[in-house]
Amino acid sequence: VFDVLVIGGGPASASAAIYAARKGIRTGIVAERFGGQVLDTMAIENFISVKETDGPKLAMALEQHAKEYEIDIMNLQKANALVPGELIEIKLENGASLKSKTVILATGARWREMNVPGEKEYRSKGVAYCPHCDGPLFKGKRVAVIGGGNSGVEAAIDLAGIVAHVTLLEFDGQLRADAVLQKKLFSLPNVTVITKALTTEVTGDGQKVNGLSYKDRDTNEIKHVELEGIFVQIGLLPNTDWLKGTVELSARGEIEIDARGQTSVPGVFAAGDCTTVPYKQIIIAMGAGATASLGAFDHLIRTSAP
Ligand code: FAD
Repeated sequence: VFDVLVIGGGPASASAAIYAARKGIRTGIVAERFGGQVLDTMAIENFISVKETDGPKLAMALEQHAKEYEIDIMNLQKANALVPGELIEIKLENGASLKSKTVILATGARWREMNVPGEKEYRSKGVAYCPHCDGPLFKGKRVAVIGGGNSGVEAAIDLAGIVAHVTLLEFDGQLRADAVLQKKLFSLPNVTVITKALTTEVTGDGQKVNGLSYKDRDTNEIKHVELEGIFVQIGLLPNTDWLKGTVELSARGEIEIDARGQTSVPGVFAAGDCTTVPYKQIIIAMGAGATASLGAFDHLIRTSAP
């Protein structure tokens, strides 16, 4: 029986597990892929106090730090059910089941992809998903933002201050972002908005992105825009499908938490991109992991016999 069982293998999980293990309690990690989204990241320049690193390096550092402690790391294992109770049960896809006094959910999220030719090939070579992370890499260049919801329009406003020009493409006939954001967007001199546009291809020279093609849904004509970067902003999907019906989720499927990381189920805490936390970043996920872990410890000292 674990005292704290952490589900997930990203920065939120590593931080939660290390905080728990440092209390001298039985700690485990179940991770489908240790490292999480960080593994897919090239340059990381906003992990404060580390001027520059990359994803594989940071993932390795997370693992090495966790291995300094007595943490039972079960990598390449996927949790597929949570059963509440005095001892919380976590069922794994491989048929095994684990029991713990507290559980910390840190299963992260994934960016929704366009699924068009060239997108995967040019990922991190011009195709980006996070304007806070990669925006400065496109200083003075031309970029597109795909998606006219709040995140797309926010990204376009943010990027317009850094890059030479932003083209925002929206599939629908109109943007779906809040009016105040749209007003700001349309006031910017270096932004072009194209609606009724279905992105069909990311083009490149073999090394880097050099443009994108889209279908004008009015005329069915295929058009091409030359640019150096594409920010895909069509949704961030939390990895919480397996929790539906047990833990309270928001309309977007994010785990609802309070200031201590506590979920709607007693003894179950959550941290990072899988939760309702408003901004999704490594440094924020790590802080949230520490919060959830201290929340779980607080819960343990109030509820378990010494
Ligand atoms: P994740 O990193 O998503 O980790 C979730 C973990 O849970 C994974 O190990 C996954 O395998 C595991 N998991 C999922 N479901 C299950 C399950 N059912 N059972 C067991 N395990 C499961 N942020 C920055 O601060 N700076 C950057 O420069 C930056 N660049 C980025 C670039 C890219 C391309 C991407 C995709 C993201 C970037 N981010 C960046 C965002 C950052 O990576 C995330 O905010 C951060 O990784 C979130 O951490 P997390 O621990 O909450 O989740």
